[in-house]
Amino acid sequence: MSEVRVRFAPSPTGPLHIGGVRTALYNYLFAKNKGGKIILRIEDTDQSRFIEGAEQYIIKSLKWCGIEFDESIVDGGNYGPYKQSERKELYLPYAEQLVKDDFAYYAFDTTEELLAMRERMKAAGVPSPQYNSVTRTTMQNSLALSEDEVQMRMDAGETYVIRIKMPRNEEIKLNDIIRGWVVVNTNNMDDKVIFKSDGLPTYHLANVVDDYMMKISHVIRGEEWLPSAPLHVLLYRYLGWEDSMPKFAHLPLILKPDGNGKLSKRDGDKLGFPVFPTQWVNPETKEISSGYKESGYNVEAFINMLSFLGWNPGTTQEIFSMQGLIDAFSLERVGRAGAKFDFDKTRWFNQQYLRSKSKEKLAQELQIILKENGVEAEDNFVETVCDQLKERATFVKDMWEEGKYYFSAPTNYDEKTIRKKWKEDTPKYVSELKAKLADLSDFSSENIEIEFKKYLEENELGMGILLPAFRVCLTGLGMGPSLFDIASLLGKEETIKRMETALEKIN
Ligand code: GLU
Repeated sequence: MSEVRVRFAPSPTGPLHIGGVRTALYNYLFAKNKGGKIILRIEDTDQSRFIEGAEQYIIKSLKWCGIEFDESIVDGGNYGPYKQSERKELYLPYAEQLVKDDFAYYAFDTTEELLAMRERMKAAGVPSPQYNSVTRTTMQNSLALSEDEVQMRMDAGETYVIRIKMPRNEEIKLNDIIRGWVVVNTNNMDDKVIFKSDGLPTYHLANVVDDYMMKISHVIRGEEWLPSAPLHVLLYRYLGWEDSMPKFAHLPLILKPDGNGKLSKRDGDKLGFPVFPTQWVNPETKEISSGYKESGYNVEAFINMLSFLGWNPGTTQEIFSMQGLIDAFSLERVGRAGAKFDFDKTRWFNQQYLRSKSKEKLAQELQIILKENGVEAEDNFVETVCDQLKERATFVKDMWEEGKYYFSAPTNYDEKTIRKKWKEDTPKYVSELKAKLADLSDFSSENIEIEFKKYLEENELGMGILLPAFRVCLTGLGMGPSLFDIASLLGKEETIKRMETALEKIN
């Protein structure tokens, strides 16, 4: 088999949403699994949809994802340039060739004329009129006009587009790796513009020419491009490239969590979770859309979650490193049905990754947040804090938000706990316990626990009476990790001090 070469071909019309990142990821996994190459090509021929900063955003966010390209606008390669606007001159000869071979034609119709045709057809009972083999005969194009007229119009500088001449009643077949045979009758297809009056090709022509010239072996892209695929097949045929046509694989849609429709760029934040890999600032409105990176997600968790939106390994394994995904990935295991986005599962993945990290690594990340909050703490201390809190956290920032008491004494005491657990006798118990603890020479978690339980036994008290009170003294909260671990880490002096303060402040 010839070399596997795939491409990710975004248009810089805005930030890349997770559907786009998933397409890039599957291309990457497929290429690496097959020992092939992945190319990043920027498809920017539709200048009316150009968005400032989108291209840089795409490059930066894919980099954060760890999706590396073998050839791209950044790194170059043997098949460049990799940006369509820089390949401008390349496309017209192919469009002209198609006209010469009678597979395409020039069309001079103005917007008003196109509109009038649609109105006419609608009035005649055609629900969705198209520029096609029937209507083209009534329009201003090189098939309907005389050769002289066409030449005259061109000489006069009239603007025109080039349209594909869609044949009548032909079945176009393509064997999609994911969807199987797809058959479309050309009667349902229109004479698409392949070259625009601004001197640039449309997506269809540029995409096919570039895939051919860049020797792309597999086109892996979102399902929304499936309706365009038959046209692409025809273009390969008409350009005489059918033998080197890439194989197609159209990926299932990513659906909203309730399964009702495609997850869109606009759903981000509206549904309470990011739909972009990294934060996007709209250059015009300055509106900020949140990203997984800035929301504290681990990139491995993000990639792991994305990989499962449409693919599964066929086993119960859920946690995969990028290399693990490369090894396990195949297009045969990509489903056809839309994949519902599951935000809870995304958080779950992050939790799994957080738990699997060493305390040293977590401490490094927590230290950054501590510094931002003006907290200074020894690495050793922070490592133990991470050890104690990591089972309860989804994000590193949770360890700060839920564990502030490790770094400073509580100033407030959880009202509910006080109401329910701080009884008349509680101050007496707390001060007696405090005296016992003050006598401990070994302030290890185990010893504190033994001492605590001994005190309960001697006084015939249940855990539920004193433990919450003890906890609220040390942390201000009603819940948290093992209190004996916390006390031991805080040390005897601090523990005693916090108990004293609580005794003064509560009541
Ligand atoms: N430029 C298209 C996009 O924005 C690429 C579609 C394809 O991969 O053919 O998604």
